[in-house]
Amino acid sequence: MLYLSRRVDFSATHTYHNQEWSEEENLATFGKCYNPNGHGHDYKLEVMVRGNLDQKKGIVVNTVDIKKIVSSFLQELDGVFLDKEHPYFKENIPTTENLVNYIWDSIKDSFEGCELYRLRLFENHYLSAERVLSGMTYLTRKYHFSAAHRLHSIHLSDQENKDLFGKCNNPNGHGHNYYVDVQVQGNPSPQTGMIMNLKDLDEIVEREVLDKFDHKHLNLDTEEFKELNPTSEVLALVIYKLLKPYIPDLHKVGVWETEKNYFEYFGEGEY
Ligand SMILES: [Zn+2]
Ligand SMILES: [Zn+2]
Repeated sequence: MLYLSRRVDFSATHTYHNQEWSEEENLATFGKCYNPNGHGHDYKLEVMVRGNLDQKKGIVVNTVDIKKIVSSFLQELDGVFLDKEHPYFKENIPTTENLVNYIWDSIKDSFEGCELYRLRLFENHYLSAERVLSGMTYLTRKYHFSAAHRLHSIHLSDQENKDLFGKCNNPNGHGHNYYVDVQVQGNPSPQTGMIMNLKDLDEIVEREVLDKFDHKHLNLDTEEFKELNPTSEVLALVIYKLLKPYIPDLHKVGVWETEKNYFEYFGEGEY
């Protein structure tokens, strides 16, 4: 089986608001997104399909056809104020999670010679939702912190550390702009349209992770890495363990050490 992806973009306006709630409740839950005049996003939709190779043509399916099918559907969302103009989103809050599920249900049977495997919808660089063939929906929020570290294992000799980690074993350390993907799984709530309230998620990640690690030397300034070697794979594992007690539906923690190095931890779960 081969998997291929095509990105298709669209823009839309929305506001978050639950008609059954008071203004205070709406404001407390949705914050800035409650502005009734709306705000907009340039959405990026990654469409992944899978199928078998057509031996004669050397392709699974023509990606131009994927784009045509998806673009033609997206016309109903592109350039629209979703809550005001779109029949489904007059009734359902147009969160990224609800949007990706709506798009999935609308286009899943439209493909010939391949099947829709994954949809990933980016509201911006820091927020995305994805729907996969198994039926799961995920929400991913990206966070940032800067920190110094020194790769050094207390279980190895100084020479072994130097041989293994080279420059990264420099006794004075060096630093990175870390980006952390926090991914939760679940079904969007009918009241909020969200898998997890972003305000709650942000508060937990700030308290449990960013406040501890941002602008710190991981080896010298943090409890977590007094003995542990602060490689990015260990960092992913440690962040997962810090968050899991407060986020039962946590599915994945991904750590971008640089734009070239990425590490993911799924706890006991599977990819
Ligand atoms: Zn928005
Ligand atoms: Zn490093």
